Order: sequence, then structure tokens, then C-alpha cells
Amino acid sequence: MSNKGCAVVTGASRGIGAAIAKALANDGYTVLINFSASEKKAIQVLDDIIANGGDGCAYKCDVSSYKEVSDMIAYAKNTCGRIDVLVNNAGISQQKLFTDITEEDWNKMVGINLSGVFNCCRSVLPHMIRQKSGRIINISSVWGVYGASCEVHYSAVKAGVIGLTKALAKEVAPSGITVNAVAPGCILTDMLTGELDSDTISSLARETPLGRLGTPEDVAGAVSFLASENAGFITGQILGVDGGFC
Ligand code: NAP
Repeated sequence: MSNKGCAVVTGASRGIGAAIAKALANDGYTVLINFSASEKKAIQVLDDIIANGGDGCAYKCDVSSYKEVSDMIAYAKNTCGRIDVLVNNAGISQQKLFTDITEEDWNKMVGINLSGVFNCCRSVLPHMIRQKSGRIINISSVWGVYGASCEVHYSAVKAGVIGLTKALAKEVAPSGITVNAVAPGCILTDMLTGELDSDTISSLARETPLGRLGTPEDVAGAVSFLASENAGFITGQILGVDGGFC
């Protein structure tokens, strides 16, 4: 397995992020597996990567803290010498009527799902600009494109990630850096099973034209492509991975 450089994947202890970390390790990247609480699961992801001949480390950091993110990116840079890929995947969801959303709910949603993306991009870009290369892949959501009832704060920040992606792509393109987003549909992870009952999950699968829920590996395949040489002329794009849902 050839080493292509270093990839930082936020929220890689579980679900989609764990699958992305494994896919990028399989592609030859040394992977920093970021987590905020699930240390054992992050270490299991690292063990799986090492067992498969890859390399990486697990790093605890709350992406909503600029200081913690800045320290994490400095650690990745010092350990690997460079940072080639940043995947902004860490996220939370919450189902609530708009009129029940508290100021605290709103600030937490913005802090992790949108400011977290800013914190990581802001910390990593000086290194990528100096290298004159880099790939940033943000995980948005179909709800950021179309909006979801009872998830207004989630939809708003995921739409914000799309705006950030398109604008930043234009700004850093002259430095040889691409910025794209993936907008997953309904993917079977803790996020889905933690918020929805099994009947709702089954009906989401039925409503998906391809007739099933997505897997974390479905999303990881799209991220792996956007990080690859084959995606070198693609930037500012939002790639739906939703089984035709929208
Ligand atoms: P998940 O299974 O709930 O995993 C969330 C991940 O984010 C975990 O690794 C968690 O780590 C991490 N995380 C949460 N808060 C964090 C923080 N403050 N700092 C750092 N890491 C944090 O969710 P998922 O379904 O894999 O979702 C991954 C991404 O895909 C999210 O951005 C989500 O919005 C998006 N997405 C998911 C779906 C879906 O249907 N599942 C659809 C569209 C978009 P700890 O456990 O260590 O906290």
C-alpha cells in the first residue's frame, strides 16, 4: 500500500466517518481519526485500519472548539509533515418542532455542524495553500438542499455547509485546492436509529427509489472518489448520495 499523505477525518469513531477513515486508509492515506466522546470506537477503527495494513492515529477533539481544532491540525501537520485531505464529517442531528428549538439547541447545532467546518477549514488551509494542493470534502445532507420539517436548525446548517463549500472552492482553486460536498440521503447509522423509530426508518427505505437505505460505505465511496486523482477537475460541487431520494 503506497502512502499518499495524510487525511484528517472528523467524527470518524462511528458511522459514516468510520467508513470514510477506512476507505481513505485503504487508498493509502495515513488517517487521523477524530472523535469527541467514543474513544473505544475510535481505537477500534484504528485497529481495523492497522490490521488491514494501513496507518493512522485517533485524536480527541470537539470540532466546535477553534482552539482544540487548531491543536489537532497542528498535531497532524507535525506528525505527517503535510495534510492532503480534510473530511468534515462530524455532526449531530435533532428532531424538534421549530417552536420547541431552544437557543441552546440552535447554538449547539451551529457550533458543531457549521462552525466545526469553519474551524477545520480555517486551521488546515494555511498548510494546503503553502503546499499548493489539497482536497476538502464536507458532509452536508439532502436536508441542506431540500429542507426537512422538524429539522429546521439541522437543514439550515447543512445548507450553510453547501454555501461554504461553493464559495471556498472558488477562493482556493488558484492554490490547487478542491472543495466539494457530499449530500447523503438516509444512511443507516446511529444518527438515524437514534432519532427515528423502526416504522419510520422502513418507510424511508421504501421512499428511496433504489429501495433501500444507504450504507456508510456508499458515502465513503463518493468521498474516496472526490479525494482521488480522477476528481482533480471537480470543485464546488455537491454530490448527492441518496439512492434517488430527492
Ligand atoms: P453518527 O453515527 O451519529 O456519528 C457522528 C460522528 O460525529 C461520531 O463519530 C461522533 O463522535 C462525531 N461527533 C459528534 N459531535 C462531535 C464533535 N463535537 N466533535 C467531533 N466529533 C463529533 O452520524 P453519521 O450518520 O455517521 O453522520 C455523519 C455525518 O453525515 C454528519 O455530518 C451527518 O449530519 C451527515 N449525514 C448523515 C445522514 C444519515 O442518514 N445518517 C444523512 C445525511 C447526512 P463521538 O461519538 O466521539 O462524539
